[in-house]
Amino acid sequence: MQPGTPSGSIPGPAFGRLPTADNWFAIEWLPLGVLRIWEPHVSRLLRANMFLVRGRDRDLLVDAGMGVCSLRRFLDPFLDKPVVHVLSHAHVDHIGSAHEFAGDLVMHAAEADVMRNPPDDLELSFDGYSAEKKDRLRQSGFDVSGALIAALPGPAFDPASWRIVAADPTRLVADGDKIDLGDRCFEVLHTPGHSPGSICLWEADTGMLIGGDTIYDGLLIDTLPDSDPAAYAVSMRRLKQLEVSTVHGGHRESFGLEKYRFLVDQYLSSK
Ligand SMILES: [Zn+2]
Ligand SMILES: [Zn+2]
Repeated sequence: MQPGTPSGSIPGPAFGRLPTADNWFAIEWLPLGVLRIWEPHVSRLLRANMFLVRGRDRDLLVDAGMGVCSLRRFLDPFLDKPVVHVLSHAHVDHIGSAHEFAGDLVMHAAEADVMRNPPDDLELSFDGYSAEKKDRLRQSGFDVSGALIAALPGPAFDPASWRIVAADPTRLVADGDKIDLGDRCFEVLHTPGHSPGSICLWEADTGMLIGGDTIYDGLLIDTLPDSDPAAYAVSMRRLKQLEVSTVHGGHRESFGLEKYRFLVDQYLSSK
């Protein structure tokens, strides 16, 4: 998901009464060496998942949250080998800390320029959003009052100073490329639709799919300026062929085959 670009730039009073969070990130260990990481104090609209996947020679980190707090520092105790950092796409809720892992940064070519030159007018409050944009988000069930965060990561944090920091991808991938961790390997599936450079990562040996914003257990978004519903439908028909065991989506909880088929069919039948 991503809310689009705010039309104004007033940090506003939304942050005045926010508490300070004890822990900015939340985690849960999932089967097959997967650590799910998320930011519980970020608005539901933008509360995206990150995944650290254990490999023999390298670990895989997928996505990078909002960049409100240092993901690198938080993950440090979990990191004992090189990390390949893959971005599922370049929306703001998935790239915030990408610059902290810029030594081995992988994404699809179609959105590389966004990562190199991220929008500089984003802010952590809905105050600057147009009434029309807020209406659209409200109709989709999102609370668009106040701040995009429900707590501050520390007493010294200044929400007005928050920016997405640019990073230069070190490797641009295309459909069929491999992310090799030594003892396990993920295939890149280019699944445009939500955004032009959206990718999923598919581990055929285990049936694990890391879905980004192409597939997760929630309202799938194909109405953003960079969305393409026709391409999305093609991507979904392709994904439908996969015999998944587990899907780790870009938002919300992970799920299995039955829910996967339901979500794919639900999307396709809505077209
Ligand atoms: Zn998202
Ligand atoms: Zn997105």
